[in-house]
Amino acid sequence: MMSYGYRPEWSEGAIKCPIFQTSTFVFPTAEEGKAHFEVAYGLRNRREGEREGLIYSRINNPDLEILENRLSLWDNAEECAVFESGMGAITTVLLEFLKPGDLLVHSSPLYGGADHFIRHFLPKQGISTLEFHPDHSKEALSALILASGKADRLAMIYVETPANPTNALYDLAVCREVADQFSSPGRRALVAVDNTYMGPLWQHPLQWGADFSIYSATKYIGGHSDVIAGAVCGNKQMLQRIKGLRTFLGNMAGPWTGWLLLRSLETLHVRMERQAANAALVAAFLQHHPCVEKVHYLGFLDPEKDAQQYDVFKRQYSTAGAMLAFDVPGGEDAAFQVLNRLKLVKLAVSLGSTESLAQHPDTMTHAGVEIAHKRALGITPGMIRLSVGVEHPDDLIWDLKQALEC
Ligand SMILES: *Cc1c(COP(=O)(O)O)cnc(C)c1O
Repeated sequence: MMSYGYRPEWSEGAIKCPIFQTSTFVFPTAEEGKAHFEVAYGLRNRREGEREGLIYSRINNPDLEILENRLSLWDNAEECAVFESGMGAITTVLLEFLKPGDLLVHSSPLYGGADHFIRHFLPKQGISTLEFHPDHSKEALSALILASGKADRLAMIYVETPANPTNALYDLAVCREVADQFSSPGRRALVAVDNTYMGPLWQHPLQWGADFSIYSATKYIGGHSDVIAGAVCGNKQMLQRIKGLRTFLGNMAGPWTGWLLLRSLETLHVRMERQAANAALVAAFLQHHPCVEKVHYLGFLDPEKDAQQYDVFKRQYSTAGAMLAFDVPGGEDAAFQVLNRLKLVKLAVSLGSTESLAQHPDTMTHAGVEIAHKRALGITPGMIRLSVGVEHPDDLIWDLKQALEC
């Protein structure tokens, strides 16, 4: 992955891919310019050995192309498209594959931005939406779709797993089976997975039959809290459509963003492994702390008490990840006191970065979710979400210890 798609001899021997800070590209001849457009506009297929020519940075740029090639490797995908934000990636997928009259079935809770777009923007375009929960079995999910009266218009199942911030898991194989059940020849119901929380290392949605693995690359992929970006991985045919719409929406990533992410990708594996190892130590510390009521951490799923969730965890994930949440007794006041006492862990939303971040889902990331719905999902006023970074684990535990008083 580290050297894939780039050769130093293309750029004066530069060991790293330079930043191609250019809006447009010079054609060697008019004939070659014509050929580039024929391919880019789909007027003919690429000839044997013909590369996609560079035209204009809204269509393509070397930093983006190399980044897309490298990101594809992690998900074992045919192709990938990068965007200037995770929301750019999500909304472009939804806009390209949904049309008026369609039904979109989605998991819950969703990332706030995705939730708003799905529940408030899509219905204005005549698209019906329906939510399902981790405890829906395959049969219950099918029944829910049938009862909507729009089963013949099921266009997509959109899933975020693990759910934020409770870490509830959705079974992607079940999503695929249900989507297939409501597909017909010539009309395939798609499965799109927001893989931000566990990808691209610890969960591979395409392997479970998903059509898209979508990322906020702002999180683990970027990993340094200094860039906003997004990505979608999937098969060639679907990605061509996504890149087509991206060209017209103009929400592709710029060369700087591409270059920063190329740099981030080189340490992605070591960062994520360290974050997961740290999270296991932090979770173990919190689990037995007298001021902590409950820890929502995948490593604590019980094979008997949580049999269904444990089964999904064992099949679908290779680690327990680096995101956890915990409940303190005493509600919002107590949670705020803990957050305000933290010294090393930063009080901020976002996740997946080198530094540990803590926030209060009830009043921050999930402030827009209806109270009754939040409580039903297990988001309490005493809940704190933690994204564990790469710091020394003793420092993190020291910080939590001094912040937790009860
Ligand atoms: C942050 C996030 C997004 C949105 O990504 P941006 O890069 O902020 O646009 C989408 N899904 C999940 C799960 C996220 O955490």
